[in-house]
Amino acid sequence: MSHLGLQVLYGVLKEVPWISPERVYAPWPDLEAQLRSEGRSLATLEGGTPLKEADIVGFTLQYELSYTNILNMLDLSGIPLLAANRDRGYPLILAGGPCAYNPEPLADFFDAFLIGDGEDAVLEIADCVRAWKEEALPKAALLERLSRIEGVYVPSFFAVSYRPGGEVEQITPLRPEYPGVRRRFVADLEKAYYPTSPVVPFLKTVHDRVSVEISRGCTRGCRFCQAGYIYRPVRERSPERVFEIVEETLKNTGYEEISLLSLSTGDYGCLTPLMKGLMDRYAARKKAVSLPSMRVGSLSPEMVAEVRRVRKTGFTVAPEAGSDRLRRVINKGITEEDLLENARAVFGAGWRMIKLYYMIGLPTETMDDLQGIVDLSAQVKRQGKLSGNGGDVNVSVSSFVPKPHTPFQWEPQISLEEIVTKQRWLRPALKQKKMVMKWQEATLSWLEGVFARGDRRLSKVLLEAHRLGCRFDGWWEHFDRVKWGEAFANTGVEATFYHRRRDLNETLPWEHIDCGVKREFLLAEREASLAEAATADCREGQCTACGVCDFKEVKLRLNEPVPFDTYACEIAPEQNPESGQRIRVRFEKVGRMRFLSHLEMLTLFTRAVGRAGIPIRFSQGYHPHPKFSFATALSVGVESYAEYMDFEVDEAYSADELKSALNGVFPEGVRVLEAAAIPMKAPALSVIMERVRYRLTLPEALGAELPKQAADFLALEHAPLRREKKGKVLELDLRKELHELCVAGSTLEMVVGRGKPLEFTSAILGVPVETLKETRIEKLEVLFAQNGE
Ligand code: SF4
Repeated sequence: MSHLGLQVLYGVLKEVPWISPERVYAPWPDLEAQLRSEGRSLATLEGGTPLKEADIVGFTLQYELSYTNILNMLDLSGIPLLAANRDRGYPLILAGGPCAYNPEPLADFFDAFLIGDGEDAVLEIADCVRAWKEEALPKAALLERLSRIEGVYVPSFFAVSYRPGGEVEQITPLRPEYPGVRRRFVADLEKAYYPTSPVVPFLKTVHDRVSVEISRGCTRGCRFCQAGYIYRPVRERSPERVFEIVEETLKNTGYEEISLLSLSTGDYGCLTPLMKGLMDRYAARKKAVSLPSMRVGSLSPEMVAEVRRVRKTGFTVAPEAGSDRLRRVINKGITEEDLLENARAVFGAGWRMIKLYYMIGLPTETMDDLQGIVDLSAQVKRQGKLSGNGGDVNVSVSSFVPKPHTPFQWEPQISLEEIVTKQRWLRPALKQKKMVMKWQEATLSWLEGVFARGDRRLSKVLLEAHRLGCRFDGWWEHFDRVKWGEAFANTGVEATFYHRRRDLNETLPWEHIDCGVKREFLLAEREASLAEAATADCREGQCTACGVCDFKEVKLRLNEPVPFDTYACEIAPEQNPESGQRIRVRFEKVGRMRFLSHLEMLTLFTRAVGRAGIPIRFSQGYHPHPKFSFATALSVGVESYAEYMDFEVDEAYSADELKSALNGVFPEGVRVLEAAAIPMKAPALSVIMERVRYRLTLPEALGAELPKQAADFLALEHAPLRREKKGKVLELDLRKELHELCVAGSTLEMVVGRGKPLEFTSAILGVPVETLKETRIEKLEVLFAQNGE
């Protein structure tokens, strides 16, 4: 849900009237078990469409360890896993995303891959499929037409042969007019589509915020980083366009946070003026701006001041390697002195925590470099002390996995044992200096390394792993090392074969996929790394001839620097804590909305208030919250026509305005029924609520004896209940808490004080609460104390 690329494609497709984009995610094992036991297909979220009925099913390949999930999703949909077994009656199975730059391990499963930017190509693909369907042609004709779309790779149009030693011998194009594929490229982001109306989830996702891609591509040239090569050159969006996107997206979503995305946000040409403009516009509305990827050296004092105006976000620095020498090898271009100066600035500005990211297993690494990780991290921690503010350091250590299309694509990956040994050495060494280390499990990196530089023979390993039950391999708790071992053994494939050093003359499995960067450039960069020589960022003026640009359409697109206050604007005055007014609201929560938890309702209201532009008032401090409060938390599954909330808004805002503004943005199932102004000092809802009227509709089988059971219960003098939750014991007399009870057919209507409606029903029927799962519960009315406002 948090993946911007998916939101972009979803939005692009949604704009076209004859396309219905619908989402589907890999089901968690509990849902998988349920689907299988009920013989149901995996279906889309929007329309409940079984995947088999779609025309196209597209996957985004973000991480090698999600491959078994793909097979599982196809399997759960009754779609044959192998492309060769799917005729025209099945959907076209496509994939894109960074891992598609080496699609070979998945070659047997997919009909086609899109290599590169998807905004335009996805529409061309949809057009192509539509025309093919109308003409009722065979599947081969569709593949042939797709192969003519720039960026589309059809794996079945290539044959791969292998040497006796296992290396790829040759990749042979089966159609002379289709010798390879060049990545698709959107040259000018300024004109590209942007999803300003993304799907806003009710439940919590990894990133619940407005994400604005301020630029694509990075030419810093870190030699391990695949993204730095496959997304070249740098294309920046103008600050004006960024402002437009932010404003529109905030209006459409009601999010409270804005995140500026790019591979290296700190390198964006007009970052400080942009931040100043964003802060001036949104600080009073309490919108936070976060910068996920800052570079050392790009944190100017002005920037620090801007970020601090609303709330402090975490600060992450990626030295990547422990020594200046190794950082020269990888072309990181940061010295220890830079890092420490940066840390001083960050701690000095009041941040309490710096997260440091490192890799182990980089080419030429020695134990000195590992010692460097410990020493450097300790030094960074010391800067916190020196700044006088204190400060801590978190160290994250991942393992280097050589990736295709980088200068390190020929380098070996260190063995599983070496990863474990190095992690075991680092952990206590850092602990001794009072630092906590987080690390990636060694086996996960080991498996990632197999698929990252794998070939077509791995398809059979994936099939076998899936058959053995491997799923969610990127989730440590689900990763099954034994099953993976079996999958390799059963298929006769040697995993470590893929971790080895590749000969410079060897045919690499992804050689027919052209990302634009020339092989000679990668080779030269490899040489430069061994010589510890720096390669400058071409943004600084000198093209280093990587081969990507045609200097007409495909070229660096950078913003001209502008003065700091170019986008400054008048700052809205802070709210006067003395003024303002309270409005009490009654709303309903019915239908599917009954499944939202209390926390999700809180989020729903926060977003609704943002979308409706309600002049809500905020609490003070670094984490300001909109001032509204619920009377009680409604249990999940209960429908209600009597939920109450209090809002604190600006003085001039009326209850009627609030009601119609909220109803204008609420999803179906939530609606304000009444709103009225109340005195600021009126007692809290929880204080004046006395009783609640519920209606419970029982399944017919349970309701047969209801009138008698109700009469028997009413005849009781006491009905004690003891409830234990999280160590707390509550004792109630349900009979005393029951104030009214009526029976009509299999429906119970009751007015109760303390106690849950199902507890009363369970006591009346003399059955356990668990047997009442199918009961419909409606909260009809809240009865307030006589003197309540
Ligand atoms: S071709 Fe030159 S200017 Fe273009 S990305 Fe490569 S190095 Fe930079």
